[in-house]
Amino acid sequence: MNAEDSAHDEAEIRRAVCEWLKTHWNPDSGLVEWRNKLADSGWGVPHWPREWFGRGLPSSLNVAIDEEFDRIGAVSVARIGIRTLAAATLLEHGNDAQISKFLRRILTGEDTWCQLFSEPGSGSDLAGATTRADFDGEKWIVNGQKLWTTSAHHADWALLLARTDWDAPKHQGLSYFVIDMTQDGVEAQPLKQMNGHASFNQVFFTDAIVEAENILSNVGDGWKIAMTTLAHERRGADALRRWGRISDRAGRIYDEERAEIATVMEPYKWYAQRAGRVDLILPRARETGCINDPATRQEIAKLIMLSRVSEWTAQRARAAQKGGQPQGPEGSIGKLAASHVARAASQVHTMIAGAQAMLAGDDGPVDGIISEILLSVPATSIAGGTDEIQRNIIAERVLGLPKEPRMDTGPFRDVPKNPTKN
Ligand SMILES: Cc1cc2nc3c(=O)[nH]c(=O)nc-3n(C[C@H](O)[C@H](O)[C@H](O)COP(=O)(O)OP(=O)(O)OC[C@H]3O[C@@H](n4cnc5c(N)ncnc54)[C@H](O)[C@@H]3O)c2cc1C
Repeated sequence: MNAEDSAHDEAEIRRAVCEWLKTHWNPDSGLVEWRNKLADSGWGVPHWPREWFGRGLPSSLNVAIDEEFDRIGAVSVARIGIRTLAAATLLEHGNDAQISKFLRRILTGEDTWCQLFSEPGSGSDLAGATTRADFDGEKWIVNGQKLWTTSAHHADWALLLARTDWDAPKHQGLSYFVIDMTQDGVEAQPLKQMNGHASFNQVFFTDAIVEAENILSNVGDGWKIAMTTLAHERRGADALRRWGRISDRAGRIYDEERAEIATVMEPYKWYAQRAGRVDLILPRARETGCINDPATRQEIAKLIMLSRVSEWTAQRARAAQKGGQPQGPEGSIGKLAASHVARAASQVHTMIAGAQAMLAGDDGPVDGIISEILLSVPATSIAGGTDEIQRNIIAERVLGLPKEPRMDTGPFRDVPKNPTKN
């Protein structure tokens, strides 16, 4: 498609979405009622397939469509939180019954989701999961423990990676399930972090049940499907929360949307700080007079260059994705670059604030935001795959360097691990 064609298409799409909104948008309707209309029309997720609540349009048109929604204050489908990863994974690997059961309620925001991957003994080594699912002839029985599960305390459903075969090599003995988080056999206990928030949980399963129809794809396909979820997470971590913008408009639908955002975004309250708050650097340097200190200026300049380059790399990755090209090195570098930027920003914040950076709450600079940055930035290098793991991926898959020697290729039962019941 040349530039003229796509401009033409965009103008037509803008007209079509405007027309539809003019007829259907009603700020006095209920949030779920409105989102059901969006799901039926395909305008809520226009880049999804026609048979599944979309219109099969290129995702490059989403910006234009969103602008038309914003112009009149029309509310979108629910697109914050782990539910976005659930939707992407289900679209790719779910069967028709699973997609139709779960996707509509994801879009309407009626269900919230979490991701049950990491365990006490398997975070980076995700394929070492020992939470087990055993089939009793009718349903799957789940026992074990997950850890660091963001939003588990208010999730209705979860994406669960569990071991179904202890005799297969570790990557092949895993299966992928959708589990009901509201049942008795599932207990989520919040964990308090060093920055004072409690976004994630440890989750215990005691004979928890997964109905037979809630396994994704086939038994043993868990690893492949987990890679889909992680690819979406690494590529679009910010999309999990980008849309949590609070409208100041009056009306029932906005009140309901504000309540939803308050609940779903609660675990992410500190995520802006975790990214380092580069936006605060120059105002803080000017306000404190540090802008005149040559050593600080030097570090500020380095940080801003790093941050800009990282943004452009991310833009290149998005452009390639939109153009239908396979993920290139930009995708792998992006997450690592975000960690570098966050760490550099927290160092420059410390140069500017000095010892006051240690003061939390109202006593600290910017009402404690600076100390929250220092205590939150380390999470960027851990969540969704640590920096070391990203480096391994770049070394092996992008640069083609030799793989790490493996000690775990035989039956999983025989792989050395922490004591567990198997
Ligand atoms: C904010 C946040 C939110 C999270 N949310 C979720 C969630 O919702 N669901 C979920 O399932 N998990 C979640 N996690 C967990 C996250 O995915 C894991 O913490 C991460 O994968 C690292 O695992 P680990 O903590 O077990 O560390 P480990 O794997 O024990 O790693 C410890 C250290 O060893 C290094 N290391 C490990 N293996 C290698 C290797 N092969 N080569 C070199 N170095 C290595 C690591 O880089 C790290 O520095 C979250 C984590 C954070 C910080």
